[in-house]
Amino acid sequence: MSGITLPFDQYVLKVHSRCDLACDHCYVYEHADQTWRSRPNVMSVETAILAAKRIAEHVKQHDVSTIHVVLHGGEPLLAGHDRLAEIVTLLREQLDGLCHLNLAIHTNGVTLDEKFCDLFTENGVKVGISLDGDKIANDRHRLFRNGRSSYQQVIQAVSLLRARPEIYAGLLCTIDVANDPIKVYDALLSLEPPRVDFLLPHATWEDPPPRPSATAYADWLIAIFDRWHAGGRPIPVRLFESIINTTHERSSLSEAIGLEPSTLVVIETDGGYEQVDSLKVAFDGAPATGFDLAGSSLNEVARHPGVQARQRGLQGLSATCQKCPVVRSCGGGLYPHRFREDSFDHPSVYCADLLALITHVQDHTTMTNHGLPPSTFDALAAGYGGAEDIEALARSQASIQRMIIASVPERPAAAWELLVQADRTDPAALRTVLAHPYVRVWAASRTHGGYLANVAAAAAYRAGIDAKILVQVLGGSVHLPTVGTFDDVTGDSATLVIEGGSTWIDGPATPLTEVRRLDAGGFSVLLEDRDPSRDCHQWPAAAKLGKTDFDAWHGCFSLAWQLIESDYPEYAPGLRAGLSTIMPLAPAPAGKDVSSTARHAFGAVAAALPADPATLALLLIHEFQHVKLGAMLDMFDLYDESDSTLYHAPWRDDPRPLEGLLQGTYAHIAVSDFWRARLTGPERVRAHEQYVLWRAHTARAIETLASSGRLTSFGERLVGRMRETVASWESGPGSSPA
Ligand code: SF4
Repeated sequence: MSGITLPFDQYVLKVHSRCDLACDHCYVYEHADQTWRSRPNVMSVETAILAAKRIAEHVKQHDVSTIHVVLHGGEPLLAGHDRLAEIVTLLREQLDGLCHLNLAIHTNGVTLDEKFCDLFTENGVKVGISLDGDKIANDRHRLFRNGRSSYQQVIQAVSLLRARPEIYAGLLCTIDVANDPIKVYDALLSLEPPRVDFLLPHATWEDPPPRPSATAYADWLIAIFDRWHAGGRPIPVRLFESIINTTHERSSLSEAIGLEPSTLVVIETDGGYEQVDSLKVAFDGAPATGFDLAGSSLNEVARHPGVQARQRGLQGLSATCQKCPVVRSCGGGLYPHRFREDSFDHPSVYCADLLALITHVQDHTTMTNHGLPPSTFDALAAGYGGAEDIEALARSQASIQRMIIASVPERPAAAWELLVQADRTDPAALRTVLAHPYVRVWAASRTHGGYLANVAAAAAYRAGIDAKILVQVLGGSVHLPTVGTFDDVTGDSATLVIEGGSTWIDGPATPLTEVRRLDAGGFSVLLEDRDPSRDCHQWPAAAKLGKTDFDAWHGCFSLAWQLIESDYPEYAPGLRAGLSTIMPLAPAPAGKDVSSTARHAFGAVAAALPADPATLALLLIHEFQHVKLGAMLDMFDLYDESDSTLYHAPWRDDPRPLEGLLQGTYAHIAVSDFWRARLTGPERVRAHEQYVLWRAHTARAIETLASSGRLTSFGERLVGRMRETVASWESGPGSSPA
């Protein structure tokens, strides 16, 4: 084999070859390869200069636009502040301007301090921390040489990073199936990482992992996947996202699975080039290439048979893997894990786990499992959707909501029992409460867990169940979603009594103030100005409305709804089926209309009271598009979430991420339509101007989306339907100036 198949764009720089921990699962020190013993402890400045120059040479030769350099070890922080500063500066000097340089460091965090954080902040170095979960999980392996726990130091390091989100890359957790997976996941989630990755412990067929059951690792990961998926995927989890991505034929984002060729090379502290680091588990010297910085270019390393073996995609896999139904997602697993009897031509030692995990993830993330008929998808994708289509979205949201509620940690037993009783006595009453938009916002936020009692009490009250239950007091009030609020309550909790269709607080409190509704003759929505979770929008929530403000809202909504019913028959049935709540925002600056939706608040539109009913009608139609698309995004992967490219949105000065552009385009179909319907009315001059403007913006944005190359097949189908909608306006009134 000759020639370079792909240039390297991922570099692991071993800046220190020793570690201050003695983790017994570490592949550097505790497995077959022992070459670390003969290497210098720290990468010298001379070696770092050579490394930076070799990388720059390779970037220039192959015109690589983006590279990733990870400072690694051993423990890279042991290189010290000064040496790390020198290495980072050298890399920036050689590479900035040549390509986009993503710099990161993977550390155990034990010696991370403010000075390191200053260095990383100044130089744009993202920090990933190894942490195996809660203290029990972490202390199972990640100990100092004298057996002392490293947990507190690592948590301290994570605290430093949480204060500097711009350099906090995430947490890397090595799996031990002896740990409770949910406790591990919850512990990691509580540290607010921007990303988590779960790593299978390095092993081979010759040295297999501890395995209490045939699919112990899949079972462990599936427990976390179910929790993560039910919780609305609150943070990116790389392994799960890799499976979802590869299922939709997108980049796996990881060497661990997928068929993408490896473009990674390791540079050791002594300047030696090595193949992927985890090969150290296979046999002594397995990662070696025999090349080093002084004597060889990266092109020579790229021609090494070991490097090329990891670039052969499907052809590079064993016969068993090539016939496997999940091979496009799995890719035979991590290369070193395939090692058996002097060869890598085998499935992974984790084969059974990978098959079970990938099948489970695919079963839970593809269209057929959402129960949304293709005709409904197409109706919504076109920008519209009738009552039945929105009801289908609402049913899907209800099932997601139940899963999120079920995953709320530390839920009070009495509250759960009351919910179960309400479900048996009057399921519709429970559905109404759980469907309240801000109940999901609360459940997904995982704060004030005792609020489940308030949710249960609201369901019991609506179901006519007598009960006495301890509920949560927030800001001196007890709020029962969809029911109302008691004020002037003292303490953190209070006893709520429901009896004979009445409810009261057993102690000092005002009587119940019921949630108010905005009524437009045959259609009404909740006016939500008390819910404790409502302030989750882009703009601040208004305080509780006085009578004058409420009356103003009532009058404006009533007229706006009349307008929607008379002039917007394509939108009115969907709004009637799905718009449940209006949340008043604090007054907007003069001359500005503000409105918003929140991804978890299905059915709610937040707005500051606009000047006139027509503007409110426009805001409701516009914002409800975001409600619909948000629900579709809960069900479908529409685009490549790993895409960090920013795209021009014709209606904004600043470029937008792909989801922002998609949301804006979908919403502006309705904005264009709003003005299109007014082309023959009394304000036709303004309507014509607005219609031409928004139709042109929307059409341009659709083409940007279509040519992004980052849409999934569902995303392409959605954008195709939007394009058909805009094209269908071509021959109508007002079309020619566009
Ligand atoms: S699941 Fe097993 S057989 Fe299938 S591709 Fe992965 S390692 Fe190969």
